[in-house]
Amino acid sequence: MRVDADVAIVGSGFAGSLAALALRRIGRTVVLVERGRHPRFAIGESSTPLANLLLEELADRYGLPQIRVFSKWGTWQRSRPDVGGGLKRGFTFFFHQPGERFGDDREHERQLLVAASPHDDIGDTHWYRPDFDSNLARDAESAGAIYLDETAIDRVEFDGDRATLDGTRLGQPVHIRASFVVDASGPRGFLSRALGLDAPPLRWLPPTQGLYTHFEDVARWDVLRPDAARPYPADDAALHHVFPGGWIWMLRFSNGTTSAGAALTDDTAARIAAADGAAAWDRLLATLPSVREQFQSARTVHPWIHTPRLAFRSTQICGPGWALLPSSAGVIDPLLSTGFPLTLLGIGRLLDVLERTRPGPSRDEALREYERITLAELDATEMLVAALYSAMSDVPVFKRLTLLYFAAASFSEAARRLNRPELAPGFLLHAHPAFGPELHALCAMALAKPHGRARDELMKMIDAAIEPFDIAGLRDRSRRDWYPALAEDLVANASKLQATAAEVDALLERSGFRTSGQA
Ligand SMILES: Cc1cc2nc3c(=O)[nH]c(=O)nc-3n(C[C@H](O)[C@H](O)[C@H](O)COP(=O)(O)OP(=O)(O)OC[C@H]3O[C@@H](n4cnc5c(N)ncnc54)[C@H](O)[C@@H]3O)c2cc1C
Repeated sequence: MRVDADVAIVGSGFAGSLAALALRRIGRTVVLVERGRHPRFAIGESSTPLANLLLEELADRYGLPQIRVFSKWGTWQRSRPDVGGGLKRGFTFFFHQPGERFGDDREHERQLLVAASPHDDIGDTHWYRPDFDSNLARDAESAGAIYLDETAIDRVEFDGDRATLDGTRLGQPVHIRASFVVDASGPRGFLSRALGLDAPPLRWLPPTQGLYTHFEDVARWDVLRPDAARPYPADDAALHHVFPGGWIWMLRFSNGTTSAGAALTDDTAARIAAADGAAAWDRLLATLPSVREQFQSARTVHPWIHTPRLAFRSTQICGPGWALLPSSAGVIDPLLSTGFPLTLLGIGRLLDVLERTRPGPSRDEALREYERITLAELDATEMLVAALYSAMSDVPVFKRLTLLYFAAASFSEAARRLNRPELAPGFLLHAHPAFGPELHALCAMALAKPHGRARDELMKMIDAAIEPFDIAGLRDRSRRDWYPALAEDLVANASKLQATAAEVDALLERSGFRTSGQA
């Protein structure tokens, strides 16, 4: 088989397929190469408000209304209930002491719930990737991308302005020629190996391991521990059980499947012998009795996966004629669901490069800028997640550090929705002239594990750093770490977004914030 295309995309996860779809919309010929076949298991399932906004922006820019429906729980359920997904109303954290049952007081010292939406209809989602990705790959194929699944590429060569990829598909040789190669094959993927790209250990994050699978019949935390006053049902969220040395995620899909797994420091992973899979999971839950209750009747529906090294970051992510998408360039940790927004930001940037430039010096220059921004975003994410890891035994500091994320994320989303993206430069506002350096300095302070006065000072400094960006009442201690999504917070803080209360009001109306609609 011989294929000639403008762009060859290696990997047909959501990122590769979405890039293929967008490129078809601007008239490029595309070959989308997949090693496996859909539907297939993939990890990375929980979206965020910013991820959904970026999905909307890409859908609008490239005329993809069939993709836009997935950016909200309500439109998804009304339009494509056949594609598996889950409702995510926010971020839920419970903090555990190993060996002890979970218990808390009226101040919610051992929990943190941050709503991302005021009601289900405009809620965020978890993507059931076997369905989600195969739907996108099918769409890309319908849009005219040449889709080659079960294809193994053994060799890639770049000569002048063409790349050649050689491999086999179902025993037959495949020969692909393309002007540009996009690597969407995931961490330590195709080009990383083929080109021997360097990926030294991360700078701030301790080495971590992953252990995860899909389950059925996982009991709901909010049924085992009901509380009518929570800002949203605790399990309709990305539910995090945090403990010293790691954390567990639980993401529920409406098809009865729950994605659950743990990210663990090497020490914790060694203690439970994480490579043992099911037995290691049992050993972990034996230290977390309240979490174990949730899994009493649960069964796995997919084999256990142990990832001996979760985090990864390449130092070079593009060259003449090729680029890695952010999800192939680096993975930090799922703790703040940063993978999707980073990937979607990168897809937008790379499409921009391919649309605006032709092969030659101007494209090379644009690619260098793509690399600079992508690596800077990964670094900002790494530093914040590393700071959180360093505070897993100090719950108040951990919770306060998360406010850096929630303030930056909610401010960025609102600024973009108000058509003022220039107010929120960089993922996590890392390129903001005031917030960026503060974020860096505060994370560095947290990494030093301060005690006494220095620790109090860190907490105060975090409050001061987020104040100009806090549009969600995050510094209001009377909320006792249960933060609802309130229209009045946004209206009251309109001036921080250089907007009038009426403009914010109109935004809230437009985005369905005030009406609950029908899911
Ligand atoms: C444990 C874990 C949990 C995560 N949780 C979240 C989360 O909750 N939220 C979030 O935002 N992000 C999360 N992430 C990050 C998230 O997984 C990625 O951002 C996302 O999967 C990227 O999607 P993708 O389509 O680029 O890559 P992938 O989903 O990795 O898909 C890559 C595709 O390429 C194919 N492929 C691989 N090699 C080749 C090859 N040589 N030739 C052809 N095809 C190939 C694979 O078969 C696959 O289909 C998580 C990451 C990890 C490790």
